[in-house]
Amino acid sequence: MSPQHQHQHLADTESSPAIAQSIEADANVPAIIKGLRQQGHIVTAERQGHEIVIVGGGAGGLELATRLGNKLGKGRHAHITLIDASPSHLWKPLLYEVAAGSLDSYAERLEYLAQGHWHHFTFRLGRMDGLDRARQEVSVAPTLDENGVEIIPRRSFHYDTLIIAVGSVGNDFGVPGVKEYCIMLDTPEQAREFHRRHINACLRANTQAEAVAPGQLTVGIVGAGATGVELAAELHDTTRELSAYGMDNIEPDKSLKLLLVEASDRILPGLPPRLSAAAAERLAELGVEMHTKERIVEVRPDGMLTADGQFIPASMMVWSAGIKAPDFLKDIDGLETNRINQLVVRPTLQTTRDDNIFAFGDCAACALPDGTGFVPPRAQAAHQQAAMLVKSICRRFHGKPLPEYVYRDYGSLVALGRFTPVGNLMGALTGGSIMIEGTLARLVYWSLHKMHEIALHGWIKTSLTTYAHFISTPTRARIKLH
Ligand SMILES: Cc1cc2nc3c(=O)[nH]c(=O)nc-3n(C[C@H](O)[C@H](O)[C@H](O)COP(=O)(O)OP(=O)(O)OC[C@H]3O[C@@H](n4cnc5c(N)ncnc54)[C@H](O)[C@@H]3O)c2cc1C
Repeated sequence: MSPQHQHQHLADTESSPAIAQSIEADANVPAIIKGLRQQGHIVTAERQGHEIVIVGGGAGGLELATRLGNKLGKGRHAHITLIDASPSHLWKPLLYEVAAGSLDSYAERLEYLAQGHWHHFTFRLGRMDGLDRARQEVSVAPTLDENGVEIIPRRSFHYDTLIIAVGSVGNDFGVPGVKEYCIMLDTPEQAREFHRRHINACLRANTQAEAVAPGQLTVGIVGAGATGVELAAELHDTTRELSAYGMDNIEPDKSLKLLLVEASDRILPGLPPRLSAAAAERLAELGVEMHTKERIVEVRPDGMLTADGQFIPASMMVWSAGIKAPDFLKDIDGLETNRINQLVVRPTLQTTRDDNIFAFGDCAACALPDGTGFVPPRAQAAHQQAAMLVKSICRRFHGKPLPEYVYRDYGSLVALGRFTPVGNLMGALTGGSIMIEGTLARLVYWSLHKMHEIALHGWIKTSLTTYAHFISTPTRARIKLH
């Protein structure tokens, strides 16, 4: 379809009040349409230009919406709509800090509506749950308030180009008890829920008359990938901070037990072995108990059962043992998906069965050119793909051939508490792979987040907010206490 093509499409009255008002006043609009509008349903409206719909405003989607808004939305060359299930954005790699209490998710979040206003895209709140490829429409479920009362009815959005970037969720692999008794770190709400329970457990332990019982403050983390390892190290630090702030009945070395359970033969199995070894050494120094080659087959309210019949007691459990794309993507309207629901894409990031639909980030399966596997589900991949898609969409807009994505691994950094990250730098930066630790690793780790902020806000605003953050540090508690 030509980008300049005019079409009838579905719009919601909330999204376009000016259009809705003009329809209301237009004598040619049939009464049934006005009736639908009055009942809060959809209306039809005429709009010009290419409709680009991005679903998911995470590490990749929000960068893409921002850059496309600046490039195409500003001059009205295209209309860009971002749909997200949440009203605000928090960069997902920060979630383990929210869970441990060292980061206030409310202070760090970015409101999509404001970002859209500043960067010339339209934001729509809602969770995509369906797709009609024949009509080129995305279906978005009704949005309910915390009491289950409908705030926004079900809606459909027309697209000329659709880009799906809905990320991933924890994969429980069907293990019984995970849903009931484990917390996953997929969303800020889940991270805050973990933090709330952890603080409550510490408050209870601190004020009870009797001594802290064995296992009362044991956190079991299943999956020793970067998320599990970073959470364990951060919890070690923040619990000591809590004790220093006055919870003096808790002796962190004795009362708090942190367990990491991993099915592979080493922690951080996806990273180079020497990085795993360095991380394991640090965690052992911090007193984190590591159980490798242990597969959890059942989770119970008071602990976890391993495949060889061992029961590991724990009072709180986190599941970070693997990811999958959200279930609603499975075979969605005939698109090709893999066994973990990811949309299979070509190197152009177009889905294999529909040129008008792109997918990227964690929810896409993009093969590596050497056939050794797929692009890993990481923020750096989502960031690179978003940058390429800005070019792709502009080229597509002018009918030019699309570039192909090549994953560049710049290395991995794992934060092990406040002062001791370890990691490796790879590729063009180093001419190979070198291991880095300490201050350098900390700086590189910090720069990953800064690159995301620069993509969203530009250099000047990012520099100013970073400076403001540093000068306010002495007046902020280093952990969130509620
Ligand atoms: C604790 C933790 C630490 C991590 N640390 C690192 C790290 O150090 N380095 C690194 O490279 N990677 C890290 N990752 C992985 C990284 O966060 C992801 O690879 C990255 O966020 C993927 O980006 P994305 O845009 O694909 O999805 P996400 O960033 O997950 O964004 C998905 C967005 O889609 C929205 N959404 C979901 N479903 C729907 C729907 N049905 N309708 C509408 N909207 C929807 C969500 O609300 C969200 O805003 C970490 C992940 C976690 C959980």
